[in-house]
This record gives sequence, structure tokens and C-alpha cells, in this order.
Amino acid sequence: MLKVLFSAAPERWDEYRAPLANAFVEAGLTVDLARDHRPEDVDYIVFAPNGPVKDFSPFVRTKAVMSLWAGVETVVDNPTLTQPLCRMVDDSLTDGMIEWVVGHTMRHHLGMDAHIHAQDGVWRNTIYPPVAAHRPVTVLGIGALGAACGQALVQLGFPVTGWSRSPKAVPEIVCEHGDDGLRRALTDAQIVVLLLPQTPETEDILNVERLDLLADGAFVINPGRGPLIDDDALLAALDAGKVTGATLDVFRVEPLPADHPYWAHPNVTVTPHIASSTRPETASVVIARNIARCEAGQRLLHVVDRGLGY
Ligand code: NAP
Repeated sequence: MLKVLFSAAPERWDEYRAPLANAFVEAGLTVDLARDHRPEDVDYIVFAPNGPVKDFSPFVRTKAVMSLWAGVETVVDNPTLTQPLCRMVDDSLTDGMIEWVVGHTMRHHLGMDAHIHAQDGVWRNTIYPPVAAHRPVTVLGIGALGAACGQALVQLGFPVTGWSRSPKAVPEIVCEHGDDGLRRALTDAQIVVLLLPQTPETEDILNVERLDLLADGAFVINPGRGPLIDDDALLAALDAGKVTGATLDVFRVEPLPADHPYWAHPNVTVTPHIASSTRPETASVVIARNIARCEAGQRLLHVVDRGLGY
């Protein structure tokens, strides 16, 4: 019998206990799932950074750590973590992100706020948004989430350019990579969506110089991670009108402090890191199937590259 340790925030236990147990059975695994196994007995850890495990060194027989989160920046550098770390890639997580990105893209594209905030009896019928085909969108990061969001936007008619570290071919998206590719991807983009991981290479990727490449009046949508954006540069671009609006879901400090200028800025929408969350039913299936692969001697899926940090 495999021993699987659940190490996430305590309130998650009730949400995950039954879905994980069911998924293990469906995957043909016999599992003792608990929150209090002795570290030296644990075969796999279901992990979130806000759970109790901080030191992985006592987990001497653990074959893999299965993250409930897609972003792994808070654990990837943990020197005690010598076991393989698998990040979360799950269809429901992706679907949630597609809906959030498409929703906020359409809100900015259609200029919805102008009408929502102008229910004052004045008939303003002179401003039309362009059709999507005339609104270039750039997605920074075209991995599991960025590629799916980009393709959903293509289905709506937006011309989408994506940017990644390595050369990629994502159907229907113009794919760029490297420094020159970033310049091309951002130049004249009207909407930028950030879905990069937080690594030393991606910190402040959207800085003064790169904001300047965007089309005048562009929109910035960040469901990736807070440090991807130079906050002072974005606030300056918003104040100058270079950037017309921003929807920000993630921040350097979370919860975003109540006195942060983003809260008060009229052209910024703050959402509290809710763009997409891991769903217990589907995430449990992903974890169980990955453990079953490992037990069958197959390669684990979604293993984090420690050197790259994602
Ligand atoms: P992923 O599959 O690992 O994709 C990451 C993408 O970023 C890849 O295309 C990768 O390039 C690219 N990238 C990484 N480093 C780069 C660099 N230095 N230069 C250029 N491109 C780089 O990750 P994912 O599952 O799509 O998730 C992306 C991020 O979304 C997560 O890390 C997390 O921070 C965030 N997230 C947020 C929420 C939320 O609710 N707000 C929910 C889930 C996830 P390659 O293709 O060349 O590797």
C-alpha cells in the first residue's frame, strides 16, 4: 500500500480527501492517504506551499512531490527538495484561466466600462470598438495556460502573438521567442496578457522600455505573477495614458496592501488572485494518474526543471 501525505492548507483537506481517494481507486492504486504519516514512510506528497511541509529532507523514500499549484516559485529553490516536483496542469484550471482572460480581454476590447459607468441618460453612440481582427493581442508565456488562452482568443477573431523561452509552434498563434522576438511581440500590441512563471529571468519583464513598445492606449492583463511587472513603470504608463487600463490578479505582496496605488487607480482593476484555481475533482485525477505512471515505471508528467525554475 502506498502512503501519500497530504500537505496543503488545513481547510483543503475536506475538499480533497474524497476526490483523491476516489481518483486513487480509479487509477488502480491502493493508497493510505493521510496528513500525519511519518516522513520516512511517505511515497508521495500532495503539496501546496501553505501546508506544513517546509523541509523535505526527512522524506527519504518519497518518489515525487505533486504540487496542487501551477506556479512553483516558492518551492523550486528549496534546497531540501531533492525529489522530482510535478506542477499542476489540469483541464479545469486551464478552462478557468481561459474564461478569466477572455472575459477581461472582451471587457477592455469592447470598452464596456464606459457604458457601465455612464448610465446617466446621455446617449453616447459615437464610439465603436474595432472588430477583434483589428485588435492585436500578445500573450507572454505560451505554455499550458497561455497557449490555451491565446487559441481561445484566436477563435474570437483576435490576431494573437505568443512569446516563449524556446521556439514553439502553437497552431493559429504567431510564435516568437528570445529578446528580438519579445520586441516584435510587444511592438504595437493593443492587449498584453502575462502568463509567464515567476523566475529570475521573467522578473520585471514588463518594464518602462517594453511598455513603450505597446500601441498607445494598450491594455495590460496579468494573471501570471506580480513580479512580472515593474509596478512603478505600469503606474507611470497608466498616468501618461500610454496604457489605458489594466486588470491585475497577482501582486508582489498578496493580499495587495489596502494603501497600494493600484487599488485607488481609476484605470486598474484588482482581482484577488482568483483568475483560476485548482479544482479538487479534476486535480485529484491528474495526481492519481501521474502516481500510477510512476508506479508503472513510466516517466512522470509535468516535472519542474529546477535549473529553469518552472
Ligand atoms: P507553463 O506551461 O510552464 O508555461 C510557461 C510559459 O512561459 C512557457 O511558454 C515558457 O516557455 C514561458 N517562459 C518561461 N520562462 C521564460 C522566459 N525566461 N522567457 C520567455 N518565456 C518564458 O506554465 P502554465 O501552466 O502555463 O502557467 C503559467 C503561470 O500562470 C504559472 O507559473 C503561474 O504563475 C500562473 N498561474 C496563475 C494563476 C492565477 O490564478 N492567477 C493560476 C494558475 C497559474 P517555454 O515554452 O519555452 O518553456
